[in-house]
Amino acid sequence: MGSKTQKIQVTVSIDTECDHDPNWVRANPLTFESITEGVPNRLQPAFDSVGAVPTYLLTVEVMEDKDSVDALRDLKGNYEFGTHLHAAFIEPEKKFHDYAGVDSPDFQCSYAEDIEYQKLANLSNLFESCFAYRPTSFRAGRYGANHASLNNLEKLGYKVDTSVTPHIRWSEPNATVDFRKAPEQPYFPAKNEIVIAAPYTHGRILEAPVTVMPRLIRRTPLWFRPWFASVDQMKKIFHYQLKKHPDREVLNINMMFHSMEVIEKASPYPQNPADVQRFLDDMVAGLDWCKQEGAEFCGLSDLHETFQLSV
Ligand SMILES: [Zn+2]
Repeated sequence: MGSKTQKIQVTVSIDTECDHDPNWVRANPLTFESITEGVPNRLQPAFDSVGAVPTYLLTVEVMEDKDSVDALRDLKGNYEFGTHLHAAFIEPEKKFHDYAGVDSPDFQCSYAEDIEYQKLANLSNLFESCFAYRPTSFRAGRYGANHASLNNLEKLGYKVDTSVTPHIRWSEPNATVDFRKAPEQPYFPAKNEIVIAAPYTHGRILEAPVTVMPRLIRRTPLWFRPWFASVDQMKKIFHYQLKKHPDREVLNINMMFHSMEVIEKASPYPQNPADVQRFLDDMVAGLDWCKQEGAEFCGLSDLHETFQLSV
């Protein structure tokens, strides 16, 4: 059929956070089972079993918790660490000092551009103080990033952002982000844009959107994500991407979810051990199937070089 596809790279981008409750509010008292138990004992062994390379995007809450940082520093296997911002939880204009029982309402792009820059700089410095290197991959809390967010990330040395969710528009009281026209495959955003692609220019950050498939009868697309999609639906989304973008030499399938989803009752999703097992089994089956279709796994930041060479 004339498809130019030569390479398919599968990434797994995980918002890595403290435990929440079934209503998506932070646990009270605050707990971190998702980091101390979920990442080393449930997620990483599952990824290792298929050779997948997860990218754990770490929040302020996690990097301020000593036990969590110790667990992450000790993590064995193949993975990448990046960052994830809950904008209300870091200076300047920090709104909460005790995160227990609170929600994180703000889009980072609703703050002034220089305030957002300082927040991202502080988040990146916190990461460096924990791990002794600079982070290069990122996702905004609630996907609340705009063109200024990308410029700020680029200034801080980030290579890949994964805040864009194609076909979706998100709103909070102070801001809206509209990704309905965003490309479905990774792209270098045009200057001062977030959903418009342009040829690569030196140092430009890569946008790697979350992989979804639009649905005819539903306004929301189907996500390439355990719990939201069955293994059969993951296969459909994979095939949809291949069919929709035959002109691209390299394709990316970018699974997303939160670390708390593998802890019972720490998110609205799995509520008991059988649910957690089904989540992990579907995740592994979906990823293993991608591998059998010829896909390779890599960390998010590795996409920057591949797409720079292929575009
Ligand atoms: Zn988050």
